[in-house]
Amino acid sequence: CGIVGYVGARPALGIVLDGLRRLEYRGYDSAGVAVVAGGRLVTEKRAGKLANLEKILAEAPTAGISDGVTAIGHTRWATHGGPTDRNAHPHLSRDGRVAVIHNGIIENFAKLRAELEAAGVEFASDTDTECAAHLLAAELDDQEQPSAEGLAAAMRRVCQRLEGAFTLLAVDAAVPGAVVGARRNSPLVVGRGTGENYLASDVSAFIEHTREAVELGQDQVVLITPEGIEITDFSGRPASGKDFHIDWDA
Ligand code: GLU
Repeated sequence: CGIVGYVGARPALGIVLDGLRRLEYRGYDSAGVAVVAGGRLVTEKRAGKLANLEKILAEAPTAGISDGVTAIGHTRWATHGGPTDRNAHPHLSRDGRVAVIHNGIIENFAKLRAELEAAGVEFASDTDTECAAHLLAAELDDQEQPSAEGLAAAMRRVCQRLEGAFTLLAVDAAVPGAVVGARRNSPLVVGRGTGENYLASDVSAFIEHTREAVELGQDQVVLITPEGIEITDFSGRPASGKDFHIDWDA
């Protein structure tokens, strides 16, 4: 339902939680975050209100979660699988290397899930989303060296296999300083900062940080790093979104 991503030099957790709070008006049943910290992913997710997640993060912060400068966050409106802790996003690959958040519905998830299960993958949730995390991990496993470009390439290959409506964001523990996003039939906007960049389902998530935005077109993948925004189509051809300035009051 609500999606936020950040990469820059500032601690990312608070920025992502603030962004999710600004998207709360859309309604949701669960919330979760994944932060890249010290070469691994630190995640927390809970059914219920954002305040519930924030309480857990404040009372028992997982080591490193407050320091990471790359993060993604999600508020979920359940479509596949009940509103439980385990079905909340992010969804991780089995090795914990990749975390994925998703808005929308992956229509062909049952087929993809059956294929992954036949290959020995164990699922940890009832969501349509989780298959994207495992597909992404499989693509990354095939690559020799982790890299931001490799993460974007892996996302493009996954998107070619997905049907339906999706905004997807992913982070890779092996690639600190990068968030990859993709969209089809569901919105995704980039917020252009200085030495930092944002991704969100709606500009309200980052409007207190930047007014310069880029709306992604249909079937595009975007890679954000602190210094760069790279957009391609699902085949890897360079593409561009629609640049715009947000001039309304926050
Ligand atoms: N279909 C996904 C799920 O049920 C995403 C729902 C959403 O857009 O929040 O987990």
